[in-house]
Amino acid sequence: MAHQDESRAEAAELPAHVTPRRVVIVGGGFAGLFAARALRRAPVAVTLLDRRSHHLFQPLLYQCAAGILSEGQIAQPLRAVLRRHHNVSCLLAEATDVDAGARVVHARRPDGSELALPYDDLIVAVGMRQSYFGHDEFAEHAPGMKTLNDALDIRRRLYRAFEMAETAADPEERRQWLTFALVGGGPTGVELAGQIREIAGHTLDREFRTINPAEARVLLFEGSDEVLGAFGRPLTQRAARTLESLGVELRLGTRVTGVDAHGLDVLDRDGTTTRFAARTVLWTAGVEAPPIAAALARATGAQTDRAGRIAVQPDLTLPGHPEIRVTGDVMGLDRLPGLAEVAMQTGAYAGRHVRHSVEGRKKKPRPFRYLDLGSAAYICRGRAVVKVGRLHLSGFLGWLVWLLIHLAFLTGFRSRIGAVLSWSVVFASGARRERAFGTPEGPAAGKG
Ligand SMILES: Cc1cc2nc3c(=O)[nH]c(=O)nc-3n(C[C@H](O)[C@H](O)[C@H](O)COP(=O)(O)OP(=O)(O)OC[C@H]3O[C@@H](n4cnc5c(N)ncnc54)[C@H](O)[C@@H]3O)c2cc1C
Repeated sequence: MAHQDESRAEAAELPAHVTPRRVVIVGGGFAGLFAARALRRAPVAVTLLDRRSHHLFQPLLYQCAAGILSEGQIAQPLRAVLRRHHNVSCLLAEATDVDAGARVVHARRPDGSELALPYDDLIVAVGMRQSYFGHDEFAEHAPGMKTLNDALDIRRRLYRAFEMAETAADPEERRQWLTFALVGGGPTGVELAGQIREIAGHTLDREFRTINPAEARVLLFEGSDEVLGAFGRPLTQRAARTLESLGVELRLGTRVTGVDAHGLDVLDRDGTTTRFAARTVLWTAGVEAPPIAAALARATGAQTDRAGRIAVQPDLTLPGHPEIRVTGDVMGLDRLPGLAEVAMQTGAYAGRHVRHSVEGRKKKPRPFRYLDLGSAAYICRGRAVVKVGRLHLSGFLGWLVWLLIHLAFLTGFRSRIGAVLSWSVVFASGARRERAFGTPEGPAAGKG
């Protein structure tokens, strides 16, 4: 421990006997990572706490689920990403509570043991998790898309469905295995819908003997009247047309009221409930804050919105707690969207201002201003929609811009090279290398 303190003081160019200011960052997503990077040269000792050991590039989760990219291409060990940041220690543990008076974060390690981490500055960057709008029982049959485990679970369900259809003796059962239902018409739902039609029409072409994978039905349920609502017209209309030309059936203005292992119940605007038989249901609608956000709000008296986002002041601190900053998706400020770019900019801003205060700068920080760099959604090979300010791109040009944006932001040089190779193969031939999936261990495993 003494050795660690010395090396950290040395890294931060402090005399060995001076204890550096302790900064705890909770969450190693985009916001936490950019906060840690902004503190690289600061004379502080940073502890980056995450319940996972990797930084996850969530925008490409669906490509991992669809078998284009591997886990390693979208998830990098936090330690490896921050190896040159000598003042940062990574810690695998889940923050469970905050004592704002004593300035301590309580956390639980994977073996269940408890930790108490004192801080001088706290940066909270815990992101959001999937919400089932009060119906958590849907999760068992309709996984969300937030973590690496979710992506691998979805990959297993997608490819297993075709295998099950191939051996189903009953035509109705076969139809159910070949019907895929997606709930939520935001970027993730749209991207997954496009992927499933591509897998069915191109990747699995000529591989099966009793089924024709191209006959797979993909249904996309969305509560509003359009998909990709945040992109505005005309991109929403173009995206809808592209999806329909791929064979995706759009069911707009609908609300899912029930999900089980054999399908889902859907309520129309006119009050009619229809049952859709589908053995694969995927959920991409809605987010909510993780429990630690509510614990922080209780500890500090901070306000939260309906989804549990914590309201922050314009400098991202909490009222009455200038030492606590909240960043990224879990932060509630000016209705900023849950985008990677918002997380990166708020994380970097928070890290920078901790550094300025440690360096003794007296000037009050300028309020955070978000620089909107636009958003992009991939629909299928060679087609994407991109919105940057007033510039609206779609089709092949949109896809090229999508490609450049994702290459620029993907963490790690090797991941970028690997992604380019995988995308080239998929683009040229439709083939996907990452189709392997595990089967759950159970009492029957290994028998027969
Ligand atoms: C499928 C999908 C597709 C997306 N596509 C796009 C896109 O195309 N473009 C775009 O701009 N944005 C996209 N987003 C949104 C973008 O990924 C998020 O805005 C961004 O990841 C938010 O960053 P964050 O750091 O706030 O949270 P996250 O990236 O979610 O990171 C939060 C971190 O906190 C950790 N954590 C949570 N609770 C605790 C705890 N109690 N203790 C310790 N650690 C904890 C988590 O393990 C995680 O590592 C997408 C998101 C998803 C899920």
